[in-house]
Amino acid sequence: MVTDVFGRLVGPATAGALRHHARHPVHAYLLLGPAASGVHDALTAFAAALQCPDYGCATCPACRRVLEGTDPDVVWIERAGLAWRVDEIREAERVSRRRPLGGGYQVVVLEDVELTVAGASPSAPALLKSLEEPPARTVFLLGASELPGALDTVASRCVLVRLAAPSDADIEERLRAEGVSADAAHTAAHAALGSLERARVLADDPALVARLDWWRALPDRLAGTPAVASALAREAAGLLDEAMVPLERSLAVAAARERDESGQLGGRASSRRELEAQSRREQRRFRSEELTLGLSTVTAVYRERLARDLEASRDGDARADHRVAGTLRRLDALAEAQRRLSTTLDEGLLLHDLLFALSDF
Ligand SMILES: [Zn+2]
Repeated sequence: MVTDVFGRLVGPATAGALRHHARHPVHAYLLLGPAASGVHDALTAFAAALQCPDYGCATCPACRRVLEGTDPDVVWIERAGLAWRVDEIREAERVSRRRPLGGGYQVVVLEDVELTVAGASPSAPALLKSLEEPPARTVFLLGASELPGALDTVASRCVLVRLAAPSDADIEERLRAEGVSADAAHTAAHAALGSLERARVLADDPALVARLDWWRALPDRLAGTPAVASALAREAAGLLDEAMVPLERSLAVAAARERDESGQLGGRASSRRELEAQSRREQRRFRSEELTLGLSTVTAVYRERLARDLEASRDGDARADHRVAGTLRRLDALAEAQRRLSTTLDEGLLLHDLLFALSDF
């Protein structure tokens, strides 16, 4: 087990590539990967490796400063709105002209560079310009979750490092390394839908196993009446509320920390509002992922039934034929619910419709 700063990242390939680049840095890097691949963590680790005399040992004062966000030479450029504004990019350029105070590099970090814009007040060309001939001891670290065509020229001025979304096994290994028990790491990794952040919340949630059991037992509890279907829809909604508790707890801790820090720095209302909006987005995403997990758990149960009944039907069991038709209908209803999940605002109605479609009145 490697214990340098890159050991914190998921995916051994990512860590290997970044370790190599940290020893021979060029003036700009673009780290590209889906949100679940941990672009933010990779940028932080890379910045630490650039400042560390041992290329990211994770324990020296230089590494610790970067990991704690207190290295004055590592500057994360902030964005007030959804898209980058020209003056924010110019701030990045201004910072890039500074001489580093310490013995490392002047590191300028910009996340979500896909949110630069062309058009009336174009921040994409400003970004391009700032990447032109930076001073020798400056390194730009850019992060993006996608690469629109408008950014091709920006990308061509950077070394592009692609980060892969982690596999369940990668996530499980990462949780174990963070001290999570084998059982909890296994369950959380497989329920995390490829997101390390989600896996960390789930690893800290003793009720996860009970929720998965609820969804697995659902098909057996359904055969009944509309009243049963309604009651189960309400139980499912209650389960989603329950799933939100650990996330809400960790968001509250993060918000309190931000309040402390911004108190020291003079406090910016805009960054507080941004943080609140971000919390709401995270909560919505987590809830929808939780329901996706529930739907896929039930789907797996029906798929097992389908496989069993198809075999029985081949052996001439006529009742199995009948069950196959019913199971296919239910699998359709589950797929339809999954489709609706991305667009609907009414989760209650979705659950009600689903539970009625799954029931056999
Ligand atoms: Zn170090």
